[in-house]
Amino acid sequence: MSWIRSFDYSYELDEIGGEILEAVRRVIEGGRLILGPEVERFERDFARHLGGGHGVGVASGTDALTVCLMAKGIGLGDEVITVPNTATATANAIVRAGATPVFCDIDPETGLMDIDAAARAVTPRTRAVVPVHLYGNVVDVPRLAAALSGRGLFILEDCAQAVGARLGERAAGTLGDAAAFSFYPTKNLGAYGDGGFCLTADAALADAIRQVRRYGFAQRDYAVRLGLNSRLDEMQAAILNVKLPHVNRHVDERRALAAVYDAELGVAVKRFRTTTGATHGYHLYVIRCQGRERVAERLRALEIETAVHYPHPIHQMPAFSAAASAVRLPHAEAACSSILSLPLHPGLSPRDVARVSAAVNEVCV
Ligand SMILES: *Cc1c(COP(=O)(O)O)cnc(C)c1O
Repeated sequence: MSWIRSFDYSYELDEIGGEILEAVRRVIEGGRLILGPEVERFERDFARHLGGGHGVGVASGTDALTVCLMAKGIGLGDEVITVPNTATATANAIVRAGATPVFCDIDPETGLMDIDAAARAVTPRTRAVVPVHLYGNVVDVPRLAAALSGRGLFILEDCAQAVGARLGERAAGTLGDAAAFSFYPTKNLGAYGDGGFCLTADAALADAIRQVRRYGFAQRDYAVRLGLNSRLDEMQAAILNVKLPHVNRHVDERRALAAVYDAELGVAVKRFRTTTGATHGYHLYVIRCQGRERVAERLRALEIETAVHYPHPIHQMPAFSAAASAVRLPHAEAACSSILSLPLHPGLSPRDVARVSAAVNEVCV
């Protein structure tokens, strides 16, 4: 027996490691390290891959969210609605833009934003809503937009876990007003370090996003707004340019492994439902079980690594509890205490997944 890991990119090095090293060498020898041809190419190609719009590479997924909000002019005194069962980054970005996060509960069936709860959380101060396509499942953004209609709210999709996910024929990230992606190494399209991406069909917003990522500059050394220094660097972009042509196949491999879990896990093992009309991107395969710690421990004894995405609802964390006051969000709280992420990445075989499933079936009864 050998360890089955949550994340392992050695399969990728076997496949395209040579090309990746060659791309890094090209950047180093080319002498252009920041905002050069690799970033430009990636911005064009990844936007096209997603189905169109303007793409802007930034330094991380967190920054992609922050930069989109700042570029839209959302900040002090504004409220932004999101869910508490997401990466802390989602809420961090809202606060860093200067706005106040307002948390709404989730649909217990899908684990995603409860659209009616989001609509009820709107106040006169609300400027934006950030639906999170958690695990690669997709929030029904058109339905969200309809529920919010007439209020002029900015819908920013958190697509950090949603590369490869679709609603109907449309890619996650093309459903709202703008979208934020992450290339953190474990994500479906991972860099070899940090990276992020903003996508929007709005050309004026894309220009503002470009300004924010570069000190607020409209031209060199002339700031027209407050900005950050948040750029996707040439080396990461060069690596992403090598990886992009493989991403559909890698997501298909994730889907095939998820189908093995679907078939092998017993009925006692609870899972979230995929949104009607959505094609799941399977960044993560998450089960829900009583006594999660015991299950994780048993799997560890069998050399199977698990993880929890995420254990603490954000509205109950000290950094955010002032913003959230004493709000109770029972479905999100229940989800956070029962979820467990099973290993899922293209380096696993169907046999690995069957081994994990058998072990889970034994403890989750
Ligand atoms: C990973 C992640 C982020 C943050 O992305 P970074 O690139 O790590 O900053 C934001 N939201 C969600 C849902 C994530 O999974």
